[in-house]
Amino acid sequence: MKDCLACDLITGKLDLPGGRIYATNYWVVEHCIGPLEVGTLIVKPKRHCIQFWELDDEEIKELGPLLHKVSATIKTILSPDQVYICLWSHKDWKPGHIHFVLQPVWNHSRQKHQRPGPFLQVDMFTADEKPRREEVEAFAKRAREVMETL
Ligand SMILES: [Zn+2]
Repeated sequence: MKDCLACDLITGKLDLPGGRIYATNYWVVEHCIGPLEVGTLIVKPKRHCIQFWELDDEEIKELGPLLHKVSATIKTILSPDQVYICLWSHKDWKPGHIHFVLQPVWNHSRQKHQRPGPFLQVDMFTADEKPRREEVEAFAKRAREVMETL
């Protein structure tokens, strides 16, 4: 799909720090390129699909086990207190290529952020501090190894 960031990251048209971490028949796993923590992973369909309700049976069958596996990977590597799983895909009020964001979160973040959940994400997007590329690459490498063992 033309002018789709998610598709361009899948095809390699755009630079993806850490590279592709994992893939099933219908889904790919990448490190998030936005201003969230190192270890925040993206799960998205390989095809350009902008509505969750348009996923077909085969795509849906793979999704639950994959989200479980990715959250377990993040837990194994980083030991967070929670892994958020969310799907917004509505930048500039336009439905976009759907992508789940799996974000590690620690209880101690309360010292820096007033409220958890979407408020924490708003804080992070407002601060707009992208994780360091070397850290993203190191996490992606480790995630590839862990995902093979789960
Ligand atoms: Zn797309």
